[in-house]
Parts: sequence; C-alpha cells; structure tokens
Amino acid sequence: MTNTPFKIGIVGCAGRMGRMLVQEVLATPGAVLSGGTEPAGPLVGTDIGLLVGAKTIGVPVGSDAAQLFAACDAVIDFTVPAATLYHASLAAKTGKVLVIGTTGLGADVLAAIETAAKSAPLVYAPNFSIGVNVLFALTEKLSSTLGPDYDIDILEMHHRHKVDAPSGTALGLGEAAARGRKVKLADVARRTRDGQVGARAQGEIGFATLRGGDVVGDHTVIFAADGERVELTHKASSRGVFAKGAVRAALWARGRKAGLYSMRDVLGL
Ligand code: NAD
Repeated sequence: MTNTPFKIGIVGCAGRMGRMLVQEVLATPGAVLSGGTEPAGPLVGTDIGLLVGAKTIGVPVGSDAAQLFAACDAVIDFTVPAATLYHASLAAKTGKVLVIGTTGLGADVLAAIETAAKSAPLVYAPNFSIGVNVLFALTEKLSSTLGPDYDIDILEMHHRHKVDAPSGTALGLGEAAARGRKVKLADVARRTRDGQVGARAQGEIGFATLRGGDVVGDHTVIFAADGERVELTHKASSRGVFAKGAVRAALWARGRKAGLYSMRDVLGL
C-alpha cells in the first residue's frame, strides 16, 4: 500500500446520500475528495464544501462523469439506475474502482455491472451498513436452521421520498433467506398481497413495504411457526452508516484485481 492519498469522486454529490458521502470522504484520513457531479443545472459550479457546510474546499460540482473518472482513483455512485448504467461503462473503460449503492437496478444495469467487473474492481451492495450485512449473514443461517415450517416475511419501512419497493435491502434479505433454504428467490417471492390472495403457500418468502416520514431504513425478518416467532430487526437512524461503509469499501478496493465484490468481501464476513 502506498501513502499517496486515495482520490475519491462522488457522482450525485448533492443528493441525500451524496452529501453524506462528501462529509465522510472529507473526514477520512488517507482519502481526498477530488470531485463530484450532478446533472446540468444550477448546482453545477457550486463549491462542494458549501453543499455540506459553510466552508469552501475549492472543488466545484461538475457535470462530466468521464472527466471525474479520469481525475479519480475511485468513484462512489448513489444516484439513479440510468446514471449508474453510464457510470458502469466508464468504470469498464478506465478500470477505476466503482462503488455502487444505487438500488432498484434493472437487468440492463446489472448486466453492465457484470461486464464492467471484468476490467475494474466494483463493489455493489444494496446496503452498506455493517449491521445490515451482519443481518444478511444471520438471516441465511436462521433460514437454513429453522427449516420450512417457519414462514418467512420481510417487513421494511423507509422515508416518503423513496422511489423503489421493496427496498434493495429487503430483496437482499430475501436472497439470503432463499440461499439458506437452497431455493431461488424468484421462484418463492411474494412481493405484494392485495385482495383475495388465498392462504399462504408453503415456502413462500413474503415482502411488506411501509413508506412515511423521514425513516432512514428499518428492516425486520420474521420467521413465524405454530407456537413461536423469531424476529431479526435492524434500524438505521443516520445515513452516515451507509456513507461510512461505502468509503470503507472504496479504500478496501484500492489495488484489487477486477471483479464484482460485495460488502461481505469488504467486511470479511
Ligand atoms: P437522492 O435523490 O437524494 O440523490 C440522488 C442524486 O443523484 C441527486 O442529487 C440527483 O440529482 C443525482 N443524479 C441523478 N442523475 C445523475 C447523473 N446522471 N449524474 C450525476 N448525478 C445524478 O437519493 P438518495 O436518497 O441519496 O438515494 C440515491 C440512491 O441510493 C437510491 O437508489 C437509494 O435507494 C440508494 N441508497 C442505497 C443505500 C445503500 O446502502 N446501498 C443507502 C441509501 C440509499
């Protein structure tokens, strides 16, 4: 490892997560913030420091992601799927580290991520908090230990602005539960229930979504059997936990060979 500061860029730097990421990079020893982007508009040209406080840092918000990739060692992306698709193509072209937190990704973006991972180190996680990643591991373990007599449902709640449902984390928990049972989530997932849906089928993994207020992210995995219920719950009270995990992932990916990594790899779980 070298002592040269690691240059990190934040695409979507004025978003809710973008601002947390800017603060986290500025507070991380060994990392420097070398730029950030937003789509063309009034924010472009603003000093990034002013997005998170009253101090300028001499780095303006840009709108050219290709330029940002050229100037950085790593880029962190918590934006929207269409932007992530483009950023994955830039990682493929430049071989730079790309950390992706955007959720609600379609098959086209997931395919672009797989392709980019052939020529660049990518870390993709539906949730960068350490607590949630421990929850993934516990969910898989409980699902395999408790067996098919326990009905599994995943309940999540997020703030009123969230646009995708169920959350990427809830789907990740569903994947973990399915892995524990050695089945494919797509074959057993019940993403909504509304009206005369009939009795619950055995082996189903259900999802329930709540939206409201400023809830940062609550997830509960419920294992319900006759006579008892086990519930695993995680509640995030600050977006700072995701930013901390994402910056840690970027530093971890420094110097790694091309590939698609997860927070499990970063945390060694
Ligand atoms: P937000 O709407 O506040 O921020 C998104 C930002 O991206 C906006 O500032 C927007 O202008 C910007 N943007 C859009 N297109 C862009 C482009 N082409 N180039 C540059 N910037 C662009 O949303 P948010 O709450 O910060 O969440 C962003 C994403 O991160 C969502 O998908 C959310 O679900 C996800 N998220 C993931 C985690 C995790 O741990 N993986 C945690 C929190 C949020």
